[in-house]
Amino acid sequence: MTTPSDSALPAAHASDKAAPWPAYVTASVACHAGAGLLAVAAPASWPWAVAAIAVNHAVLTAGGLWPRSRWLGSNWTCLPAHAAARREIAITIDDGPDPAVTPAVLDLLDAHGAKATFFCIGTAARAHPALAREIVRRGHSVQNHSDRHSHRFSLLGPKAMAREIAAAQASLADITGEAPRYFRAPAGLRNPFLAPVLQRLDLQLVSWTRRGFDTVRRDPTVVLARLARSLAAGDIVIAHDGNAARTADGDAVVLAVLPELLARARSLGLVAVTLPAASLHPRSDDTGTPAETTASASP
Ligand SMILES: [Zn+2]
Repeated sequence: MTTPSDSALPAAHASDKAAPWPAYVTASVACHAGAGLLAVAAPASWPWAVAAIAVNHAVLTAGGLWPRSRWLGSNWTCLPAHAAARREIAITIDDGPDPAVTPAVLDLLDAHGAKATFFCIGTAARAHPALAREIVRRGHSVQNHSDRHSHRFSLLGPKAMAREIAAAQASLADITGEAPRYFRAPAGLRNPFLAPVLQRLDLQLVSWTRRGFDTVRRDPTVVLARLARSLAAGDIVIAHDGNAARTADGDAVVLAVLPELLARARSLGLVAVTLPAASLHPRSDDTGTPAETTASASP
């Protein structure tokens, strides 16, 4: 895996987020304006103007359907370089909390001395608030995975998208006592409206380095192979406690995969930490305050 330099990564705090308009917005506005001018100045060329706009929209759509793309704004596909230098990885567990699976996941993480980040759904957290609090009490992190995990999330307009994310943000902060700083889109799918919403809510989009498709793949061997292949410092891996596929024995796939994944990480000298822990800058003081919040230097 190629770990980008710190300067190539977005800051975890809004105060460090430089551009008010993502590059794609500027490029799209320029494209539309240029196409309009072309059509006015040379009416016979209108098919070319229409084609330019069509290509622009195709690129925006493709960027939204490709979870690891950065075309639509800042997107962590791996940890910051300083975390990779510390040989850290992030295990992210999505779609919970789920009382049938999450407690066993927590026990496995404890047994291996690993910390993880749980991208929780607002409705699930409100249904199981004690479990969401237990995740945090055991040293893990709860982050925002939308309020309802709608399969139509990537089709929402800016207001509906903002409502969906803000509702989860309010619930998760209220239940756990800690406001999420990271957001993951349902299935990783989004549209151009997401980046401005996240910027307003002070949330950093996080996708992943590798995923095992453990909501559909029932064979833990296959899922493990995808997650552990070329596992390296700085990786963000994704698994599921909610919506998890079941093995032939009826267990959630994540429960069969985690022990071996964590053992392999340890054998490689890798340390599983939460996303907030990974964002801590080397210059952080002993209080754990991220240097990004106190220093003017880039993250
Ligand atoms: Zn999900």
